[in-house]
Amino acid sequence: MVYRNDVKYFRKKLLAWFDDNKRYFPWRREGISNYEIILSEILLQRTKAETVAKYYNVFFNKYPNWDSLIQATEKDLEAILRPLGLYKHRAKRIMKIVKELKEKDGELPKTKVELQESSLSTLYIANAFELFILKKRAPLLDVNMARVLNRYFHFREFRDVRNDIELQELSQDVINVRNCKKLNWAIIDYAASVCKSRRPQCNICVLKKRCKYYFFQNDSLEVGEPQLSIYYDEKRNYNNPGKPIKLLSLFSGCGGMDLGFEGGFIVHKNSVNTTLNPDYVEKEVDKNYVKLRPTKFQTVFANDIINTAKYAWVNYFEKRGYSPEIYHVESIVNLVKQHK
Ligand code: SF4
Repeated sequence: MVYRNDVKYFRKKLLAWFDDNKRYFPWRREGISNYEIILSEILLQRTKAETVAKYYNVFFNKYPNWDSLIQATEKDLEAILRPLGLYKHRAKRIMKIVKELKEKDGELPKTKVELQESSLSTLYIANAFELFILKKRAPLLDVNMARVLNRYFHFREFRDVRNDIELQELSQDVINVRNCKKLNWAIIDYAASVCKSRRPQCNICVLKKRCKYYFFQNDSLEVGEPQLSIYYDEKRNYNNPGKPIKLLSLFSGCGGMDLGFEGGFIVHKNSVNTTLNPDYVEKEVDKNYVKLRPTKFQTVFANDIINTAKYAWVNYFEKRGYSPEIYHVESIVNLVKQHK
């Protein structure tokens, strides 16, 4: 489940970060030609932007436009592309595009359908084409963007971007803003500078407050482990100042009393034993989450806690005006002793 507040937070933080930290590359300048856009994307595939930047002028001085490129043979291209790596693959790719353009008298695709039918249609190039040339809102989804999204929103097993429909939809949703080009670049630069593949710099990360990866990495709670409890603070009720919060505990490993939550709470379905307690679920929210029926209980004990459930809970209470900072992990036994 993706929370809208998480999406908004992600966009806002990264756009602000980008204003101070953006990287400058020749292919990001204003007024760049369609030719340069397409060829740059081919050079950028599976190659570090800094490496391409160093090599950029070598390639574009030799082949500044389609006319010059049409004259090149596959061997010529292999020779000039060799320092970048993947030179055979890239040369083949370029030759295919050039051939197709020749057949179409230099006409580039004008619609998404035409694009899908052309040799520009691999996921990454197609998205870049849509974004920069067709001026549509499209994600520059590659392995780097996928990593940031995956960590921040999902933190699940990493899959191949080309086959991961869920990730493709998520990326489309996230970049669906007016300044989507800027947001795309922000995510890419963030992946290169902070949310790196190895050793992400979570301590300085502007997203860490809501990042699932960070959340789970810094939480030792596992399924079956006691105990997450809510800090009982009589003096602080953000919804009704002056009235005490009556919640004592949300999850606990003691007692085995699955009482459910106060009304309408959404939890991961693994948090609820629907065989033993079929009546507790009001409806399925999606394939992972269920909404619990309203109950008169405000005190909630459950056998197990899983990280996803804890995450859902923090989001839920934040939306309702509580600060997650008023809660902490403590033994439910102590809380019950204090408040019985
Ligand atoms: S907190 Fe860490 S894992 Fe999460 S987005 Fe930031 S750098 Fe990436």
